[in-house]
Amino acid sequence: THFGFKTVNEEEKESLVGRVFANVADKYDLMNDLMSGGVHRLWKDHFIRTLAPSPTTKLLDVAGGTGDIAFRFLDYVKTANGGLGNASVTVLDINPSMLEVGKKRAATNGYSTDSDHISWRVGNAENLESIPDNTYDAYTIAFGIRNCTHIDRVLKEAHRVLKPGGRFMCLEFGKVETPIISNLYDIFSFEIIPTIGQAVANDRESYQYLVESIRKFPPQPVFRDMIRSAGFLVVGPGWEDLTFGVAALHSGYKL
Ligand code: SAM
Repeated sequence: THFGFKTVNEEEKESLVGRVFANVADKYDLMNDLMSGGVHRLWKDHFIRTLAPSPTTKLLDVAGGTGDIAFRFLDYVKTANGGLGNASVTVLDINPSMLEVGKKRAATNGYSTDSDHISWRVGNAENLESIPDNTYDAYTIAFGIRNCTHIDRVLKEAHRVLKPGGRFMCLEFGKVETPIISNLYDIFSFEIIPTIGQAVANDRESYQYLVESIRKFPPQPVFRDMIRSAGFLVVGPGWEDLTFGVAALHSGYKL
């Protein structure tokens, strides 16, 4: 892209991303807990509280994987309003194995696999061709945009499918600028994560890819500017650092 962050060949990246998530689908949820010490749950809870959906919110959760954001969305609406009303979420992911795990989890979480409130759809964030313009009230993408080859295309599509007034929200790894914390984070990333990947999933490579993809993703202010360039109104600094910037919550509105 013209933002200059891509270093690997595009096709190579796409097939690698495919393999990584096909390999890890079954262990994906466990690995998230192990590698973040459960903190990803707090980030995701905070993400949904910030979105503060209502019983009329129609959400598209892109790169939705095994449904972490979707279930939190539904739980939030149910708890805050005593029912789901017309709230609905479409979970879209390029990888059918991730969605299959998500569908199984729906039952465990007290939701039917497919209903008026939740549906699952295979698709590419870069090209949401089957979705008409101005369809959704909210668009979320959590730990997914980093894996996409053309971030600018993802943002353009997000802008297109949102209704005017709709909100784009992204949760993604960021850069840690705090000294000492950033050194600790480096050790954690380059030593501990690949070791856990090897021990638990017998797959060091996938987790090395994970760390590299985090390092290559643009820093928070640069990504904020990309969101703005896609046409979104960005309010204030445009993002919120979580855990020293290990993760960051970005947001923009379609006018
Ligand atoms: N959002 C979920 C969460 O927070 O637990 C899943 C995040 S997981 C780290 C990244 C997901 O992005 C994977 O399920 C992967 O299949 C999906 N993905 C990667 N490239 C994609 C693309 N171009 N379009 C849609 N999904 C994609």
